[in-house]
Amino acid sequence: MKPQTRPLIFIASSSERAALEGDCACAYPATTSPIPMPPTNGLVRLPSGIIHEEINHEFHVFLSPKSQNGASVLNQAAVDLLQRLNLPGACIEQSEDMADDLFSQGLLEPLKQETEMENGLRSTTLAAWLHITDRCNFRCTYCYLPHKREDMSLETGYASIASLFRSAAIHNFEKVKIKYAGGEPLLNYPLILALHDYAKDEAKRLGVELEEIILSNGSLLTNKIAKELHDLKINLMISLDGFGQYHDTHRPYAGGGASFQAVSSAVELAIENGITPHISITVSGESALGLPTLLEWVLKRELPFNLNFYRENEFSVNASNLNMDEEKIINGILKAFDVVREHLPKRSLLASVIDRANMEQAHTRTCGVGENYLVFDQHGAVSKCQMQMHKPVASSFSEDPLALVQLDQTGIQNLKADEKDECNTCKWKHWCTGGCPLTSYRASGTYNKKSPNCNIYKRLFPEALKLEGLRILSTAENSLL
Ligand code: SF4
Ligand code: SF4
Repeated sequence: MKPQTRPLIFIASSSERAALEGDCACAYPATTSPIPMPPTNGLVRLPSGIIHEEINHEFHVFLSPKSQNGASVLNQAAVDLLQRLNLPGACIEQSEDMADDLFSQGLLEPLKQETEMENGLRSTTLAAWLHITDRCNFRCTYCYLPHKREDMSLETGYASIASLFRSAAIHNFEKVKIKYAGGEPLLNYPLILALHDYAKDEAKRLGVELEEIILSNGSLLTNKIAKELHDLKINLMISLDGFGQYHDTHRPYAGGGASFQAVSSAVELAIENGITPHISITVSGESALGLPTLLEWVLKRELPFNLNFYRENEFSVNASNLNMDEEKIINGILKAFDVVREHLPKRSLLASVIDRANMEQAHTRTCGVGENYLVFDQHGAVSKCQMQMHKPVASSFSEDPLALVQLDQTGIQNLKADEKDECNTCKWKHWCTGGCPLTSYRASGTYNKKSPNCNIYKRLFPEALKLEGLRILSTAENSLL
């Protein structure tokens, strides 16, 4: 693109923006707040907390905690305009070019306005993990489950869905999101079909939106199942941790055989049936080096993906090869970013490339634990996180399981970034929020400490932001051609 003397701003379109997904079924506490309008007196300032990285000599990428639309790319003339508007007493004409974009991207705000991000805001989605079975035909090296030979029954499934929608109605949620999980949920596939019918009826009765996704290892997907999922509009997430041996080492069959061939074939089968499977990639010290090859495979198929960091648990504690070795993880992901640069996707990268961080929209907590997230085990016991199913705080027979989850003070505590040491002064806190609370607790014995992966996050955030800037620019260039 030729250098321009007039200010230009580029942003991702709404269809490019990606929702946070993940192996752990975290519900992103989505909030919306009114976009500030240019003030009548014209007096403006730059909101605090804006992050800024130079992409090249002409373009800069900005991320504002006040933005609800991800990052913005500005040319040098726009950066100069922004700097002028940051001077004391600066005024903007409502008619000025870009005024609306600068406000909607959170790069300007009225001088007199100071609203706290979470004032009166709450998520509109209630998310639930349904543990369809504890059985699995894989034995992943990092799995946190005991693999009991226990399935959820139809009766328990109905009771769980009923209580989920009870809580949704009591708390006025506009949308319910169900994750059919396990174990391997396709081992109990008929139950998913039955619960889908019931959830659809409940959603219709209460007038709430319904979104469903199956979290699967992929190995049991058949042409018939793929076709049904497509027709029923049930989304599919498949876990794939590497290309060939990198995946096989992480995710062997229970009998010990390699699973890559079966899983990669399942991805192709899903695509053939019109499904766009979401690829969930768990990154460990053992698999990080294989990321570039895997991402090339994923990006060539234009699939959405997310990178989740390995979380140590009581069953994986002796697998030291999985440890989050900072150098290995950073090198592996930076090399993977080189591949992404060559195959820039159509979807935003801000919610997919660094573990639980979500740079699409500022937020205060890492996940929906204790706020808008329910985990139903195979017996209908309700806990706050799928990694704490042994600590239930409610059941599917509770009148309002969400209220009990929100009140609980004994289990996992999902603090705001401002309540965590060091995160409270960190410039990335609005998007990182300190990482998975359970991981921090395991590392430090307390919930109010920063993530043990902090150094990795801080090294990668600027690179991820620049990558998204390049992606936005490439889309803008395409549309200008
Ligand atoms: S974990 Fe580290 S990068 Fe994340 S908010 Fe806390 S201090 Fe910042
Ligand atoms: S506490 Fe950690 S593992 Fe549990 S839902 Fe939140 S981010 Fe995921």
